[in-house]
Amino acid sequence: MAQPPAQTFAQPAAPRVSGSDADVIVVGAGPAGSTAAAYLARAGLDVLLLEKSTFPRPKVCGDGFTPRGMKQLIDVGIDCSERNGWLHNRGLRVLGGGVSLELDWPDLANFPNFGAVRPRQDFDEMLARHAQKAGARLYEETTVTEAVTDERTGRVTGVKGFVRGGANGRDKREVSYRAPLTLACDGVSARVALSLGMTKRDDRPIGVAVRRYFTSPRTNDDYLESHLELWDRTDPKNPKLLPGYGWIFGMGDGTSNVGLGILSTSRAFGSTDYRALLKSWLDGTPEEWGYRDENAVGGVGGAALPMGFNRTPHYRPGLLLVGDAGGTVNPFNGEGIAYAMESASIAAACAIQSLARSGPAAEHALRNYPTALRQSLGSYYRIGNLFSKAIGNPTVMRLATRHGLPRKTLMAFLLKLLANLYDPKDGDTSDRLITAMTRLTPSLK
Ligand SMILES: Cc1cc2nc3c(=O)[nH]c(=O)nc-3n(C[C@H](O)[C@H](O)[C@H](O)COP(=O)(O)OP(=O)(O)OC[C@H]3O[C@@H](n4cnc5c(N)ncnc54)[C@H](O)[C@@H]3O)c2cc1C
Repeated sequence: MAQPPAQTFAQPAAPRVSGSDADVIVVGAGPAGSTAAAYLARAGLDVLLLEKSTFPRPKVCGDGFTPRGMKQLIDVGIDCSERNGWLHNRGLRVLGGGVSLELDWPDLANFPNFGAVRPRQDFDEMLARHAQKAGARLYEETTVTEAVTDERTGRVTGVKGFVRGGANGRDKREVSYRAPLTLACDGVSARVALSLGMTKRDDRPIGVAVRRYFTSPRTNDDYLESHLELWDRTDPKNPKLLPGYGWIFGMGDGTSNVGLGILSTSRAFGSTDYRALLKSWLDGTPEEWGYRDENAVGGVGGAALPMGFNRTPHYRPGLLLVGDAGGTVNPFNGEGIAYAMESASIAAACAIQSLARSGPAAEHALRNYPTALRQSLGSYYRIGNLFSKAIGNPTVMRLATRHGLPRKTLMAFLLKLLANLYDPKDGDTSDRLITAMTRLTPSLK
């Protein structure tokens, strides 16, 4: 008989501070939480990773990764080869104004030259198990309801919540955990931040996106496909331009992930039936693509995209906001996984330095997190927030599509700008231009 597999999980370290349940509590095992937990555990810290659901679980997403996302995965030690189930792509196909343009991912020193697709159902579990293997303790079915603070100082000292159990998961057992540091990686719902009154900023953009899977002959595609114009062609004699931007990502498993997003800067935001909008667009796409109700796999799912640092401050004593909880989605293109992971690696680096010190020096290292995050993305996101305001105006968007898309050099430059893919030190003219733009633009606060 086959032997059970050898125990591959690293032994968790013991908490360093007496009376604590861990060195770091990480709330949420999405891309931000699992990445942070993996880096922290690898540095020898005792990490408690609390997740409200059980893996594998579905997650509403486009499932698309640009080379920026792939770089983060490679850095944290995920095998990103096609052998390991990743479906690589070579670039972005952009459609609009009657033009279709295929743009290959740039060849850069800092980033791989391929993107990928991978269902979140499978990807999020892979990353959470990766953190576990590094030594993090993953507690599933554990919902955090609020941060716990020290009454005297206001410092965050841990979290409270409940564990689901019993028949049908209906029983709730209250739990609380203490640690010198908590990372809020709980996504756009941001329950930890909200329990402290840290609401989202209305002066920064947010998007809403919906998506659905369809069985489709377009399942194999070397390019991610982006639609800058969405047409309702249900009456072919009278096509109507719809608000928002769409995507079609071939998943390579017989299905496509098809969806659309709308920015808060658009007039249609908040007053639109997003599911109906998706249907109006897809009913007008060619019949042979298969994007019709009878070929749908599951329902329409949707969620908000918190962009351009729309929740600040990212630090308060004892707490860091990471990923969507800190509004880290790129306001240029709505990409969120890469930035959730990037902010997590920055947060982990600051936490590792902090937990090796004591007193004010420890706090100094933590306070460095928002500074480091701003250094990395603050100027770029300021330009992105302005960009999202400009394209919220349909006339600007229509003019940009009509006059921009036919110019391949301009579009290659825009691909680099919108996907944040350039070499600041060693690049070509486009790279130097983007570097100059970000250097001259003051960072967001
Ligand atoms: C329709 C749609 C399409 C998208 N497409 C793409 C795309 O193609 N590519 C891309 O890069 N980005 C895409 N995004 C954005 C991307 O999904 C997010 O930016 C990304 O998931 C953020 O990662 P995160 O770890 O910060 O948060 P999440 O992925 O939301 O993870 C948060 C985790 O915390 C858990 N959690 C939440 N609350 C609690 C709690 N109270 N207690 C315990 N656990 C909790 C959740 O269960 C979850 O596991 C899309 C978003 C939407 C809505």
